[in-house]
Amino acid sequence: MTDVLNDRTTALDDARFAFREELLSSGQLIGTSVPGIYGRSGSFEQVIAGLDRVLGETFSSLGATVLRFPPVYPRADFERTDYIASFPDLSGVVSSFERGDREHRELLAAREEGEPWDGWLDPTDVVLTPAICHPLYATLEGRLPEGGAVYDLSGFGFRHEPSIDPLRMQSFRMREFVFVGTPDAAQLYRDTWLDTSVALLASLGLAVDAVPANDPFFGRAGKMLVSAQLRENLKVEITVPLYADLHEGTAIASANCQRDHLTAAFDIQTADGETAHGACVAFGMERTVLALLRTHGMDTESWPVAVRAILGL
Ligand code: AMP
Ligand code: ZN
Repeated sequence: MTDVLNDRTTALDDARFAFREELLSSGQLIGTSVPGIYGRSGSFEQVIAGLDRVLGETFSSLGATVLRFPPVYPRADFERTDYIASFPDLSGVVSSFERGDREHRELLAAREEGEPWDGWLDPTDVVLTPAICHPLYATLEGRLPEGGAVYDLSGFGFRHEPSIDPLRMQSFRMREFVFVGTPDAAQLYRDTWLDTSVALLASLGLAVDAVPANDPFFGRAGKMLVSAQLRENLKVEITVPLYADLHEGTAIASANCQRDHLTAAFDIQTADGETAHGACVAFGMERTVLALLRTHGMDTESWPVAVRAILGL
C-alpha cells in the first residue's frame, strides 16, 4: 500500500496536504491513522446540520418521501448492480468470523504471534453502501405510481479511496433527492433541480460552476461509455475551485440522469410498464462544508453574516 500522505510529488499534492494540516490544527477535522477517515468537530457538525435543513427547505416543494437506510446493505442487492465490475477498488465488503472453535484458536494464536488474523474471516451478506441511492433502488422493484416517485435520502457512503486530499474521504455523508419515472420526466427533473442547486450553493458564497463530468457511473467496465456520457450530458457536477489554478475544481454535488442504469437492474417500471428512468441530485455534505471552510475561513463565527444566517449558525 502506498503512503499517500508522504508520497507528495506535485504542487497540488502540497496544497492538499497544507489544507489538511489546517483542518487538523484548527480542530475542524480529527485525524486517524488511516487517510480519509476523520472525526468531525462540533462546529463542523453545526454547519452540516444547517446545510441539511436548508436542503430540506429548498427541495420541499417536491413532497419527497423521506427514507433513511443504514450505511450497509445486502450483498445480494449489491450484486444486482455492476458496482463490483465497475469500481472494484472502491468497494467494501463486511467480513466476520463464521467458523468453528478450532479456527478461532488458530486466529488467536496468529494474533498472539503478531501475524495477520483476517484470513480467518469470511465475507458476510452485507456490503458498505457506496452511494446512498443504491439501497433505495433495491426496494423499488415493480410498477411505480402514475407520475413517478421522489425520495429524500441521507446517510453515510463508503468508498475505498485513501487520499491526501481532505475532500476525498473514505466515509462521508450524502443527501440525495431521487426521482424515478418516465425518461422525459427524469430529464426534466435533473435539469430543473440542477439549476436550483447551483443557485443555493452560490448563495453560500461558493464560486460554483456546473461542469459535465467524465468520470462516469460505469467505471472500469465501461470506459467506452465515457464519451457517450459526455455527449449526452448524463452527469453534471457542481464544482468549486479550491486550489486556485492548481486544480480546475472539486465536485461538491452532482446532478445525474442515470437512465435505466439501476432501474433495469432492479426491474423498476413506470405506471405504463416501461422500464423507468432514474435521476438524482446528490450533495456531498462534508465536501460542501470543507468548501465553505476553505472559502470563508476555519472559524465559522467569522463567516459572512448572510452565509451564517442561511445556515442558521
Ligand atoms: P457521486 O455519486 O460520485 O456523484 O458523489 C456525490 C457527491 O458525493 C459528490 O459530488 C461529492 O460531493 C461527494 N463525494 C464523492 N466522493 C467523495 C469522497 N471520496 N469524499 C467526500 N465526498 C465525496
Ligand atoms: Zn444517486
